[in-house]
Amino acid sequence: MNKLSQLPAVDRLLAEAQVADLAGRHGRAIATRAIRDELAAIRAAAKDGAPVPATEAIVAAVCSRIESLARPKLRRVFNLTGTVLHTNLGRAPLPEEAVEALVMAARSPCALEYDIDTGGRGDRDDVVNELVCELTGAEAATVVNNNAAAVFLLLNTLAPRKEVIVSRGELIEIGGAFRIPDIMKRAGAKLVEVGTTNRTHAKDFAEALGPRTAMLMKVHTSNYAVQGFTKAVPETEMAALAHGHGVPFVVDLGSGTLTDLAQWGLPHEPTPQEAIAAGADLVSFSGDKLLGGPQAGILAGSKELIGKIKKNPLKRALRVGKITLAALEAVLRLYRDPDRLSERLTTIRLLARPEPDIRAQAERLLPSLQAALAGWPVTVAIEPLSSQIGSGSLPVDRLPSAGLVVRPQGKKAGILHKLEERLRGLPVPVIGHIADDALRLDLRCLDVQEEAEFTDQLSGLGQPKR
Ligand SMILES: *Cc1c(COP(=O)(O)O)cnc(C)c1O
Repeated sequence: MNKLSQLPAVDRLLAEAQVADLAGRHGRAIATRAIRDELAAIRAAAKDGAPVPATEAIVAAVCSRIESLARPKLRRVFNLTGTVLHTNLGRAPLPEEAVEALVMAARSPCALEYDIDTGGRGDRDDVVNELVCELTGAEAATVVNNNAAAVFLLLNTLAPRKEVIVSRGELIEIGGAFRIPDIMKRAGAKLVEVGTTNRTHAKDFAEALGPRTAMLMKVHTSNYAVQGFTKAVPETEMAALAHGHGVPFVVDLGSGTLTDLAQWGLPHEPTPQEAIAAGADLVSFSGDKLLGGPQAGILAGSKELIGKIKKNPLKRALRVGKITLAALEAVLRLYRDPDRLSERLTTIRLLARPEPDIRAQAERLLPSLQAALAGWPVTVAIEPLSSQIGSGSLPVDRLPSAGLVVRPQGKKAGILHKLEERLRGLPVPVIGHIADDALRLDLRCLDVQEEAEFTDQLSGLGQPKR
């Protein structure tokens, strides 16, 4: 046991082989900081009567501090939560084509606002404009930071100091404090609510139309469902009402997939092409929800309205960068080949993954997890699970799935929290889901190619007491 006066000096610790090795890799500055932090922690603890650790233990603690300081904040994780488009875990994983495109754009100069044919100046929206129009039937399109920005920008452009009529059944809040009434206020538009929570009729809209009306707006109720005695006005009727009054009909679709998900046995989600065909003059949707691309907000619609939006100075503040556009273009191109979409677009591949396939994977992985948890007071079994799409898409629908479920032996639910913490502490953190006294690892989002990496690290779970 060392005395406080015998604490090794900074230089002495820097010279220790393990520390020197890490300092070589991550830099002397980080190593020195880790040593100072550790020595300060030891002195503080000693004041409260804690024993001063031996040099060996100090070296180990310093190494772990260096490694933690050098570790990136934004780390890869295994998403075994059962929520495919998990907002806190980055939503849609990008397909290889998009990853290649964004790496190119990140690494090299690229024709972002440059017309290679004429040598003249270009418009960054031209990177995806034609593709969006081709896929949605719109005349023009523009892209901003996310769908919240798209909704804000369209309101700020088309409805400042004017009224926007929305059904009371659609005054939604999306996670992260995006609320339709608040965004309206900030955008400078006046919200006019019509109808009731469960039922809104065409005459409700008709009576609210007036000289100050800027638009009729439909907001897709993405993250909840109103069921039972309900009525919403069909889009074709809303478009006719708006056009009869000489104002546009605008739809915030939220997720907005570009393809009919029903072909993979998934529930139908409204598409931009349907809204536009029904008479919408402008639609907005996210890039990283069901579309399966990078974070972005896409506005598609009439040339006139898109032209006005692009002239708003806030467009410049909300625009996307080249990396986003590169990934978005690559993802949109995949939609041109619908036959191979479910193989190539990661989001659809994960959502369409058949339950027997997931169950077979669970059977392959069960022995490894059981072996890793042999000393833990738990049981591990394969159970049917139900995944969700996530990001507020199709909130009531569940996808039949399977996974590894850990239950405590006896009534020791605390053990699950310890295990959950250990799973998060693995080299590639494993994020599961605890509910009803069980820790569930839904395997829908675990790629077959990642299985070995997943099982190899399980020995790091250790014993419950360490
Ligand atoms: C998700 C969603 C938004 C916000 O989109 P982000 O891309 O997350 O900014 C807005 N409106 C609706 C209806 C949504 O579902």
